[in-house]
Amino acid sequence: LQPNTTWSTSSNLSNEKSGHCTSVPRNANMEKLRSGYLFPEISRHELEHTQKSPHARLIRLGIGDTTQPIPDIITSAMAEHAHALSTVQGYRGYGAEQGNMALRRAIAETFYRDLGVKGNEIFVSDGAQCDISRLQMLLGSNVSVAVQDPSFPAYIDSSVIVGQAGKFQEETGKYENIVYMKCGHDNNFFPDLSTTSRTDIIFFCSPNNPTGYAASRQQLKQLVEFAKANGSIIIFDSAYSTYISDESPRSIFEIPGAKEVAIEISSFSKFAGFTGVRLGWTVVPEDLTYSNGFPVMKDYDRIVCTCFNGASSVAQAGGLACLSKEGYRALTRVVDYYRGNAEIIVDTFASLGLKVDGGRNAPYVWVRFPGYSSWEIFSEILEKTHIVTVPGRGFGPGGEEYIRVSAFGHRGCILEASRRLKNLYK
Ligand code: PLP
Repeated sequence: LQPNTTWSTSSNLSNEKSGHCTSVPRNANMEKLRSGYLFPEISRHELEHTQKSPHARLIRLGIGDTTQPIPDIITSAMAEHAHALSTVQGYRGYGAEQGNMALRRAIAETFYRDLGVKGNEIFVSDGAQCDISRLQMLLGSNVSVAVQDPSFPAYIDSSVIVGQAGKFQEETGKYENIVYMKCGHDNNFFPDLSTTSRTDIIFFCSPNNPTGYAASRQQLKQLVEFAKANGSIIIFDSAYSTYISDESPRSIFEIPGAKEVAIEISSFSKFAGFTGVRLGWTVVPEDLTYSNGFPVMKDYDRIVCTCFNGASSVAQAGGLACLSKEGYRALTRVVDYYRGNAEIIVDTFASLGLKVDGGRNAPYVWVRFPGYSSWEIFSEILEKTHIVTVPGRGFGPGGEEYIRVSAFGHRGCILEASRRLKNLYK
C-alpha cells in the first residue's frame, strides 16, 4: 500500500460514527456557560446573512478586528528575527518565560514612565485575553468577582469556567455570585461604588469596551480607594489606552497607591495591529500581596512558568520595534486613522438624532436606541444595510438598547457605512 492509501482507509473508518461516548463527565462549569462566546456568535449571524444575501457588500464593524497594515519597520524586524533563526548564530530556542528583558524594559519606559513600574513587574504574553484566563487560574474558584455592566465578555466567561460563578439567571441575564456594576447613561458610565458590594476581584476596563468610556482620574482614585478599603484586587484592562485623546489616565498606576491593589493587563493588539501576531503584557506589582502577605507576583510567575512558557520570540522582536521611536510614531498614525473613522461614525449617528457615546477615547462607538432590543437593532442594520455591528446585550444586561460599532475598517468602508446608515434612519 502507498502511504496515502493507508491514510485514506483510516480516514474513512474514522468517519463512521458509532455513537460511543467516553466515561468522562463534562466540566460542570462549562455546562453553566450560556451559548457561544459572543464574537463567534456574531460571525455565525454574519455567515447566515451572507448565505441569504450572497451579492451584498458586507461591511464588518462588529468584532473589532484591526484592518490597517502593520508599519514596515515592525514587520521588517519580525522578518529579520525569523530569518536569523535559520542561521547558526541567530538561532534561539526557549526564551525567558516572563519575556525578553529588553522588551519588558521598553514597555516600562513607554507606558509607565515616571510611574515606577519596573521591568521585572512586567510579564510579556501572547495577548490580554490569554492573560485574563491565566489570572483566573491564579485566583482559583474561591474568589468573588465584580465586573462593569456592560463589559468585555471574557471576564465573566472565564469566571464561569474556573468556577467563580453560580447559575445563569434567565430573568436578570446575570450569573449568580458575580457582581454587575451598572455603567450606563444615568451614572456617566462609572459605577456607583457607594452601593457596590465588596468582592475580592474587580475587573475594570478603561477605556471601556464596549462603551468607549475612559474613567477620569477622580473616578479611578475612587476605585483605588474602594479596593483598598475592601481589601480587593483590581484587574485593570488598559488594552485601549493608546486611543485616549484627553487627560484621562492611561494606566491605573497613575493613581497613587494603585500598586498595592491592582494588576494591569494590556495588549499590542489594537495599538499595533497585532491581533493576529499575538502580544500583550501583564503588570503585577511587587507591592501587591494576598491576605497572608505573600506576593501575588511570585504566584503569577509560577503560573507563567508552568502554564505558558513565554511569548513567541518573533512577536517579541516585533514588539520591540513597535516601541522604537520610529515604530511608535508610525503606529500613532495608524491609531489616528482609526480615530478619524470613529469621528465619522459618531457624526453619522449624532446627525440622525441618536444618543452616541464613545469614539473619542476608544475605537468603539456606543449608540442608544431607546425602547428597542439590541438584537432587534443589530438584525435590522444587518438585514437592511449589510453592516455587522454588535448588539449591546452581548456585553451584559446593561448593554440592552445599545449597539457597539467598531471604528476598525478601511476609510472607504466607513464612509459607505455612514451613507447606508443615514439612508436607513433618515
Ligand atoms: N481586553 C479587551 C477590553 C479587549 O477588547 C480585547 C480584545 O478585543 C482583549 C482584552 C483581548 O486582547 P488580545 O488580542 O491581546 O488578547
